[in-house]
Amino acid sequence: MTAHHSTDASLLSFYHAQQLDLADTLAHHRDGFLGSDDPGVRAYLDGNSLGRPLAASAGRIARFITEQWGGRLIRGWDEGWLALPGAIGDELGRVALGAAPGQTTIGDSTTVLIYKLARAAVAAALSADAGRTEIVLDTENFPTDRFILEGIAAECSMTLRWISPDPAAGVTLADLEAALSGKTALVVLSQVAYRSGYLADMAALTSAAHRAGALILWDLCHSVGSVPVELDACGADLAVGCTYKYLNGGPGSPAFAYVRAEHQGVLRQPIQGWLGTADPFGMGEGYQPAAGIRAFTSGTPPILGMLAMQDTIALLAEVGMAAVRAKSVALTEYAIALYDGVLAPLGVELSSPRDAAWRGGHITVDHPTFREVTATLWGDGVIPDFRNPDGIRLGLSPLSTSFAEVWLGVDAIRAELAG
Ligand SMILES: *Cc1c(COP(=O)(O)O)cnc(C)c1O
Repeated sequence: MTAHHSTDASLLSFYHAQQLDLADTLAHHRDGFLGSDDPGVRAYLDGNSLGRPLAASAGRIARFITEQWGGRLIRGWDEGWLALPGAIGDELGRVALGAAPGQTTIGDSTTVLIYKLARAAVAAALSADAGRTEIVLDTENFPTDRFILEGIAAECSMTLRWISPDPAAGVTLADLEAALSGKTALVVLSQVAYRSGYLADMAALTSAAHRAGALILWDLCHSVGSVPVELDACGADLAVGCTYKYLNGGPGSPAFAYVRAEHQGVLRQPIQGWLGTADPFGMGEGYQPAAGIRAFTSGTPPILGMLAMQDTIALLAEVGMAAVRAKSVALTEYAIALYDGVLAPLGVELSSPRDAAWRGGHITVDHPTFREVTATLWGDGVIPDFRNPDGIRLGLSPLSTSFAEVWLGVDAIRAELAG
């Protein structure tokens, strides 16, 4: 009993967190992020809402403004800017999405890209079979995903078929199979649930959608850059994801869209702008979509917003997604061990999967006081996220979060609860 307790206690010490950092072969990458030495931020546990900037991005943005924009002026579009969304998309696909070239582009916000891809998918399904009138989605998905699909259902006279998963987990194969039928046009799911952190089985769920004759659109906002993704191998049809979370693209940086090669030229996206046409500078009369992924572009690409994400993609290429995932799992395992040791005894609930195989890069813990606790923590330089109704979400960005930060965050919650 004594030995058991003393072991536990030593594993819960700040000293142990420091030992984990010393043993972490990726720890030095944290120094590449701006603000990681800011004494006013003791623990940043929200890199999954807004990733820290890499120092390299400050230089890249400054150089772009003086040399590219200031130096090349309008000539820059022909010299590389117009090709940038596809070039970054290809590299992101190679490094982090398991996507062969020509299927990924950087474009609008996640919200707008979900609309464009989902609207294209249901139009194709309905025109092939007028009985495909249902969109399958889940009650635990991010609000924007649900709201966009509500709008599309109203616009196209379709029915939303809701899955209500366990809020502390996510959509299982059985959940999805129960919702699918010959009426399903499209399934929209997140690979990692934004609240619980549940990691869906992309291969199994994609196959189930296909068995029902439906297309599937994956939201990768909370997985890209922390969980390896295999879009091509899983047979995924469509995907979208944020770049300002684990990809550190900066506030409001544009999202990415993936359209499987076989669907390009078949799916027609609804925002038919000039830069998605075969010959934008022909200034022609009728809309003629471009061949390939460029057809999913609408207007002028937001080049300034695409600069910083390139530094994270380069870093992910250097480190490798397998090593990034291993660090991510180590961080969430450690957070759960601290939860068990110090927060569970204070009545805090864990609302995330315990099995790392079913968990992404964050965990959520619930307690009725957490709205007020979060406000106090922010004032004290400990920055997690609050998620309704009473959750604190600890987002652990693999390359910029230290084990010491996890300890400081959990200890700050403990101190607040202990009064
Ligand atoms: C963050 C997030 C979004 C955000 O969409 P925006 O258009 O960038 O505001 C959408 N879906 C999920 C699952 C998210 O986590």
